[in-house]
Amino acid sequence: MSKRGACTVVVGCQWGDEGKGKIVDVLAETVDIVARYQGGANAGHTVHVGEAEFILHQIPSGILHDGKRCLLGNGVVLDIRQFFEEYDALRERGIDLDGRVGVSYRAQLLLPYHRLMDQVAESSAAASDKIGTTGRGIGPAYEDKAGRRGVRVVDLANPQRLAKRVDVAKSRICERLDELGSGATDALDRAMDEALSLGERLLGLAADTGWELTAALKDGRSVLLEGAQGTALDLDHGTYPFVTSSNTTAAAAATGTGIGPTAIGSVIGVVKAYTTRVGEGPLPTAFEPDMDAHIRELGGEFGATTGRPRRCGWFDSVLARHAAQVNGLTGLAVTKLDVLDTLSELQVAVAYRMPDGSVTEHFPADTWSLSELEPVYETLPGWEAPTGGVTRLEDLPRNARAYLDRMEELTGAPVQWVSVGTRRSQIIPVG
Ligand code: GDP
Repeated sequence: MSKRGACTVVVGCQWGDEGKGKIVDVLAETVDIVARYQGGANAGHTVHVGEAEFILHQIPSGILHDGKRCLLGNGVVLDIRQFFEEYDALRERGIDLDGRVGVSYRAQLLLPYHRLMDQVAESSAAASDKIGTTGRGIGPAYEDKAGRRGVRVVDLANPQRLAKRVDVAKSRICERLDELGSGATDALDRAMDEALSLGERLLGLAADTGWELTAALKDGRSVLLEGAQGTALDLDHGTYPFVTSSNTTAAAAATGTGIGPTAIGSVIGVVKAYTTRVGEGPLPTAFEPDMDAHIRELGGEFGATTGRPRRCGWFDSVLARHAAQVNGLTGLAVTKLDVLDTLSELQVAVAYRMPDGSVTEHFPADTWSLSELEPVYETLPGWEAPTGGVTRLEDLPRNARAYLDRMEELTGAPVQWVSVGTRRSQIIPVG
C-alpha cells in the first residue's frame, strides 16, 4: 500500500491579516494541492514574488507556484465575476492556469443581491451595531446558505432550477431592501445577467473537491488547506458578533473541503509577532495612539481588500492560547518579527484582569468584557537590530529568540516558521 500524503491546515490565529498568504506561498512549494475551505472575496492575501506583488482574494496563494493544483472548497462563497477578474488578471500576468483551478460543485454562489444587501444593511445599521464588514456580500451569502436558499455551483448546470432558486433568494432580499428604503435595486438585473453569463465558464472548472483531495491523499500526494481571516473572527469561537459569517478554524477545513477530519495531520497557526484588527469590535491589547500609528506605518497595516487602516496592539497570548486550543495547533508560524526590530522593549499580554478584579488566562466568551478588561503585561527587552536578512534561527538576536521562546511557552505550540519580511526568501525554518 502506498503511504498516505500529508495534509496540513494553515489557519490564522488572530483577527486575520496574519500573513497567511505568505506562509501558504512558502509551504505550497512542498505540496501538490492547495485548497481554500471558507470565506469569500473579503479576505485578501498579499504575496510578494520577487518585485511583483499579488493580491489574491479567492484563488489560493498556491497558484503562484507552477503546476500546483488549487481548489476552492464547498465552504467558500464564490463571487463569479470577481473570481474571473482575479483569474484573468493572473493569466495576463503570465501565470499558467490551465487545469490548475478547481471549484467545488457544492460551493455557494455569492450573487450581486448579496453584495447590495451587505452594503445597505451595514450603512443603515446604528453605529453600535456595525460589524465593520467589507461590504462584499459574504454575510448575506452565508445567511442564504444556512437558510437553505443558497444557489450552488452545481445549480448552474440546470438553468430552470437555477432561475427558480435565484428568484426566491433575490425576491426575499429585494423585499428587505425595500423595507430599508433602498432604491438601489435598479441596477441589479444587469449585474445578475453579467454574473450568470459566466456560469458556463465556471462549470468548466467545477470538481468534486472532497473526492479529489481524498484520492490525492490516498495516492501519497500532499495537500495544504488554507483558511481565510482568523480564529477571533470565527463564527463560533471568535468575538461574536464582531466575526465573519463562517467557521475559520481548523475543523472547518474538513467540512469546507469534503475530506474527513482524520485526514488532517498537522495544523499550523499563523500569528503576527504583535496583534492587529480591522473592522469594529474590541482589541484588548491596543496600543496608545502614537505607537499605533508608528507600528501601522512600519508594518504597512492597511487592509489588502479595502485599504482600511488596521488597529495595532501588543501580542496577546490569551487569544493565541485560545487559538491553539480550538485549532489543535501542532505548530506556529510567527510573521512580521522584523516590524518590531527597532523597539527597545516589548510587552506581551499574559492574562486578563476582568472588570470584577479577577485574573484569567482564558479568552472570555463575553465579547463586551474585552473592552472593559485590562491586559496583564509582561515586559521583554527588544533586540534593536535588523532581522530581515536572517535565515537561520541561531543568527537571530538573542532577545528576538527569547521573545519567540516566550510566545511558544505561552501558547503551548512550537514555533516552526519565523517570517522576517515580505519576500519568499525571508523565512526562517525552525527545527
Ligand atoms: P493574510 O490575509 O493573512 O495573508 O495577510 P495579509 O496579506 O492581509 O497581510 C499580510 C501583509 O504582511 C502582506 O502585505 C505581506 O506581504 C506582509 N508580510 C507577511 N509576512 C511578513 C513579514 O514577515 N514581515 C513583513 N514586514 N511583512 C510581512
